[in-house]
Amino acid sequence: MRIVLVGPPGAGKGTQAALLAEQLGVPHISTGNLFRANISEGTELGRQVESIMREGGLVPDEITVAMAADRMAQPDAADGFLLDGFPRNIGQAKSLDASLAEAGLRLDAVLDLEVPEDEVVKRIAGRRMCRKDSAHVFHVVNNPPRQEGVCDVCGGELYQRDDDQADTVRKRLGLYHEETEPIIDYYREQGLVSTISALAPVPEVTRRALEALPTGG
Ligand code: AMP
Repeated sequence: MRIVLVGPPGAGKGTQAALLAEQLGVPHISTGNLFRANISEGTELGRQVESIMREGGLVPDEITVAMAADRMAQPDAADGFLLDGFPRNIGQAKSLDASLAEAGLRLDAVLDLEVPEDEVVKRIAGRRMCRKDSAHVFHVVNNPPRQEGVCDVCGGELYQRDDDQADTVRKRLGLYHEETEPIIDYYREQGLVSTISALAPVPEVTRRALEALPTGG
């Protein structure tokens, strides 16, 4: 199954994507996580995107599309994937459609996670990520780790993302409304979108998401 997860920063895309991907047996592909991995490994790509990400801007499409295409071409993504944070604008959505069409493929579903803006701000302010694996995400109130500052899954150090500071979050939300929200209508015209309220406990949102998929998960 080929799925795109959309929603504002802080909607819980990363948390849900990791759970859904496991349940569906497809890889969780997060362009944000791929960029962060490149930055922590000190690659050339990481150097190119570091300051853009810190300031909450969008990485240019040609860099993002090439990186995402590389990841989707890996053998584990041959039968499906769950995209988190990509595509993030109409240009990226069109490139994705074109490259899938070239391979005789198409998306199966787009899950749109809906959360009120004041909740998004609260979620981001309390979000903590694991330095060893950015798929391990916690929240100081909603999903606290057993030991403060330590990842329950792998013992990695938990930290607050640079781009989760209040000013940067406002910029990211603005970009979400301007650049990313239009892809929801674009995909709605293709009959692919299910909108899910993400204002519920994590397992309930996962249940709603699975139910919304074409085969009911
Ligand atoms: P995320 O982890 O999805 O919140 O992404 C963190 C940051 O990575 C974003 O604020 C952007 O700077 C960059 N980024 C991630 N995905 C994309 C994308 N599809 N297009 C452009 N920039 C992206």
